[in-house]
Amino acid sequence: MPAQVLFSSVKFDKYDADATLPAKFKRLIDRMEMEDIVKDKWTAVKMHLGRKIGYSTIPPLFVKILVDRLRDYGAKVFVTDQIVSGTENRGYTEDYLGVPVTPACGIMGKYFYEKKVNFKTLQFVDVAGHIADAEVMIDLSHVKGHGSCGYGGACKNLAMGCVTDRTRQQIHHLEGGLTWNENNCTHCEACLRNCNYHANKFNEDNKYQVNFHHCTYCQHCVKVCPTGALVMNDQQYKDFQTGMAISTHEVLKTFAPGHVFYINFLINITALCDCWGFTTPSLVPDIGILGSKDIVAIERASLDAIRTEDLILSGIPQGLALGKKGHLFERLHGKNPFVQLEELEKRGLGTQEYIMEEVS
Ligand code: SF4
Ligand code: SF4
Repeated sequence: MPAQVLFSSVKFDKYDADATLPAKFKRLIDRMEMEDIVKDKWTAVKMHLGRKIGYSTIPPLFVKILVDRLRDYGAKVFVTDQIVSGTENRGYTEDYLGVPVTPACGIMGKYFYEKKVNFKTLQFVDVAGHIADAEVMIDLSHVKGHGSCGYGGACKNLAMGCVTDRTRQQIHHLEGGLTWNENNCTHCEACLRNCNYHANKFNEDNKYQVNFHHCTYCQHCVKVCPTGALVMNDQQYKDFQTGMAISTHEVLKTFAPGHVFYINFLINITALCDCWGFTTPSLVPDIGILGSKDIVAIERASLDAIRTEDLILSGIPQGLALGKKGHLFERLHGKNPFVQLEELEKRGLGTQEYIMEEVS
C-alpha cells in the first residue's frame, strides 16, 4: 500500500505571510498527527546542525516552529546531533529554541548502546544513548547531495548522525572499488592528469590512493592507464549505502512502531553535505517541505522532486563535470542514490510507493 507524504510548497499565491513556507509548515505539522504519540514523551528532534560557517542547514526559525508545536502537544523536547559544539554560532541555542541542544552520545561522546552487525568493515552500530533513550524521534533533515552516497536526507541523518565516531568510521571504510597493482604501475601519472575530481594521488610512500568521497567511478583513470594497473569494481560504492541502511535500521529498532516522524526540507539544496562547514550555491530552486511516517517514501518523494531539468548550473562545484546518466545526484557524484532506498525497503522499513498530498 502506498505511504502518505505531505508536501508544502515554497511557492506562494498571495502577498501574505500566511501563504509562505513557515506558516504552511505549522499546518503540515498539525496534519502529521503527532499529538497523541508525543504527549508526555521524551521527544528527540534529530537534526544535522552543520559545521563552521555553513548556512544551508534548516533555519532556526523552522526548528522553533516545530519545537513550539511539540511542546504545545505536551512533549518533553530536546534537539540533538552527533556534534553540537559551535551550533550557537548558527543560531541553534537553548535560549532561542527554548529546549536543550544536546550531543546525542553525551557531552563526552561515550554514551551509546553497541549493536553487533557484522557487515564487512561495519562491525558495530553504536546507537547514541540519548537517541535510544528517547521515546519519540522527529527525523528533521535537510536534503542535499553527498559525495559518498549521492544523496543525504532522512536516512543519512540517522545512519551517520545517531551513532558514535567509531560507527561513522566503519561505514566510511566500506567505501572502495578501485584496485591498484603496484607491480604494473610505471608512475606515468596519466591517471592523475585525467581525473577531473582530484580524487586520486600518490602518497608520500608512492602508493596510489583514492578519496572515494570525491571519486565518481567515471573510470577515466582506468581507461588511460597504459599498463592495466588499475581495475574498477564500480559496484562497491553501494556498500556505503548498504551500511547506512543497516545503521538506520539499528537506530529505528530502539523506537516503538509509529514513534518516528520524518520531515525533509528541500531548500538550499546544495551539491555537498552540510558537514563541509561551508555552503555552495543551490543546485535547483527551493522546493518546499515534505512530511511522512515512512522513511522510504519521504526519501523517494524527495529524490523525485529534485530534477535535472531544474538544474542551476552555478550550483555545480567548480571542476566537476556532470555525468550523463541517472538522477541529478548520480550525474554529480557518480553514485546511484536510490540504492539506499532499496536497502531500507529490503529491511522492511517502508515503501517507495507514495501518495503526495499538498498542505497549503
Ligand atoms: S574513477 Fe574517475 S573520479 Fe575516480 S579516481 Fe578514477 S578518474 Fe578519478
Ligand atoms: S596511469 Fe597506470 S601506470 Fe600510470 S601512474 Fe596511473 S596507475 Fe600507474
